[in-house]
Amino acid sequence: MTPSLPSPRLRREARAVTAMIGRYCRDHHRTPALCSECSDLLDYALKRLRHCPYQENKTTCGKCPVHCYAPCQQGRIRKVMRYAGPRMLRSHPILTLLHLFDGLRRPQRRG
Ligand SMILES: [Zn+2]
Repeated sequence: MTPSLPSPRLRREARAVTAMIGRYCRDHHRTPALCSECSDLLDYALKRLRHCPYQENKTTCGKCPVHCYAPCQQGRIRKVMRYAGPRMLRSHPILTLLHLFDGLRRPQRRG
């Protein structure tokens, strides 16, 4: 899946969220591909990313000062991140490292 996002920064965030939701779904729902609930959540996450006001200057979604998720989706993504975040270092070490660096960035709005 290659979401069409304007900046490498956002594409990396998209890869991270895709990997985390995938991991969570594999371990919890045990379906061969993403189950419908998780693919809805992923769609939602990618859509929010595309409309992110910070774009390439964004920090990671987990540290973002803007709470752009609807409350119910926010609860779901939090659960996924809490579970998959710590497990990502083993399965995606480089992506996780980059993600940690991205999290150090101060969010700045464009323009
Ligand atoms: Zn699932």
